[in-house]
Amino acid sequence: MVMSEAAGTVVVIDDDYAMRLSCRKILEKTGFHVETFEDGIQGLEAIARLKPPLVVVDLKMPGMSGMEVIPRVRDIDPLIVVVVITGYATIDTAVEAMQNGAYDFLPKPFSPDELRLIVKRAMERHRLALESRQAEIERELMRRRFVTFVSHQLQTPLVAIHQYLDVLKQLDDSPEVQVRRQEWFDRCLKRTEELQSMIRDWLTVAKIEGNTLCGQRTSVDLREVISEILKSYEEMAATEQVAIEARLPEQPLWVWGDRNCLSVLLDNLITNAIKYNKPGGKVDVCGSLADGEVIVSVSDTGVGIPDQYRPFLFSEFFRGKSENGKRTTGTGLGLHIAKKIVSEMGGSIGVESEVNVGSTFRVRLPAWREQAEKGKE
Ligand code: ADP
Repeated sequence: MVMSEAAGTVVVIDDDYAMRLSCRKILEKTGFHVETFEDGIQGLEAIARLKPPLVVVDLKMPGMSGMEVIPRVRDIDPLIVVVVITGYATIDTAVEAMQNGAYDFLPKPFSPDELRLIVKRAMERHRLALESRQAEIERELMRRRFVTFVSHQLQTPLVAIHQYLDVLKQLDDSPEVQVRRQEWFDRCLKRTEELQSMIRDWLTVAKIEGNTLCGQRTSVDLREVISEILKSYEEMAATEQVAIEARLPEQPLWVWGDRNCLSVLLDNLITNAIKYNKPGGKVDVCGSLADGEVIVSVSDTGVGIPDQYRPFLFSEFFRGKSENGKRTTGTGLGLHIAKKIVSEMGGSIGVESEVNVGSTFRVRLPAWREQAEKGKE
């Protein structure tokens, strides 16, 4: 096996020729690319150029010691892992080296296997450090993008509200104008509701990220949660000319979870089923219990989801384009939040859909057996 230089370069710095030779032989045999240097100055110059994942350095060298090399390597790139080689007599110094930032030490004499093992562990350490730095960079980018994104999203409804208020200010008191006045007020109210729902979604995401959304778990009968949500959507369904039907079993649908979270989860699916429906369409919410799982499906006869949306559907901020020209408001967070909640509860969420026919979102959650058993007593 030949490793690529970027993945597996080891820089060895040791003034002892025999030691450099044997390190090279052992590590090259394992597939690493090895560069050896007889003193710290040359070694550091190469490290700055090669940025290797791993440096193996002898502590005791004439001129610049291994102890002096360690901080300079960290100055070049704190992610480079340093392993020190030391004689038995200098174990204390090795500990000091680790306090200075070395990852591990290898006492002389060592066997080829001991060297290989420590190098393997150090490489793994480097890989993990690299991954977490990458994740941190992505989070930071997201944070920056988030501020821009949120500001942009807030701006559109705020500009609209401002314009409506501006018009309202100029309207006179004549009776004909009264009707229009009401219309502009209603538009303002609709936009403020939009703003509120956006802010609610962003706060929910923030709570999920901080692990504070689904903290209060109890046994919850999902039939109750579904009925409450459906009640709250009666008006919206009527406005959208969508009929909602619930098919819930006689026996409770017990799950162990946070009631508020479960409500957010099902609410997101049910609003979407109404929002992405067609006038005269239907929404069917069905709950059942099978093989230790509570299954809730939310079906609609709406616009459906094109295949090309599938990979992104549950990602943050993904919003599909309106195919029928109907303007729908949203944050692109509903399904992302739903998926996070379901995963946290050890369940799954899936979707079947056909464009222009409709979609079915199906949530599976582990049933809460203890409560179900209690009910039977
Ligand atoms: P939002 O509804 O705020 O856009 P969601 O995360 O809830 O965000 O949904 C992401 C996208 O998935 C929507 O913009 C829409 O394109 C699509 N979608 C979600 N649910 C449905 C549905 N029931 N029918 C059709 N498309 C849907």
